[in-house]
Amino acid sequence: MATINLTCPQCGQIDSVRKVSAIVSDGTSSGTFSGYGDGIGYSAHGMIVMDEVITITGSSQTELSWFLSPPIEPSAKYFGGILLIMIVSGIMGLLIICIGFDNIFASQFEFGIFLLLFGLLCLGIAIWTSNSYTKLNKSEQIRFKKELHAWEKAIHRWQQLYYCYRCDGVYLPNLNYIVPAQYMIGFLYYE
Ligand SMILES: [Zn+2]
Repeated sequence: MATINLTCPQCGQIDSVRKVSAIVSDGTSSGTFSGYGDGIGYSAHGMIVMDEVITITGSSQTELSWFLSPPIEPSAKYFGGILLIMIVSGIMGLLIICIGFDNIFASQFEFGIFLLLFGLLCLGIAIWTSNSYTKLNKSEQIRFKKELHAWEKAIHRWQQLYYCYRCDGVYLPNLNYIVPAQYMIGFLYYE
């Protein structure tokens, strides 16, 4: 079995070290964490070994878990506004063209022609917006794929991340340096 060195790269000790994902899952369930501890923890009174039922209350726990929260999964944008213009002007155009034809046969010829032209204009707008929608959507898909790929790498790193309470920093066990907790996201996304 391969041994992983979990000691903090800065202080060289393991007594104040805890996995980041464990800190976050404790801290986000509620402001107060009560339950069986796993391994080494930290309270306002100093370091504690959590082999019994413990209760940690206070903002520091929640604040820390907020700081160490995983990067947010990116989501794709679908340009609802453009899509709405496209659908509305398309339907409007078809309706107006129908009314235009009715008026031509009801011998309101000029009014009918006017409505036909107006209906065509609406259809034109629908086609034009659907074109730009497709283009925008394509570039958005490319951007989204890139972002998702970067996020998957970042979340994979985050799952292996450890936090040292003494040094207030995060690190990966296979790297020999520590990063201040507030720079965690940057470190996760660093290529
Ligand atoms: Zn340390």
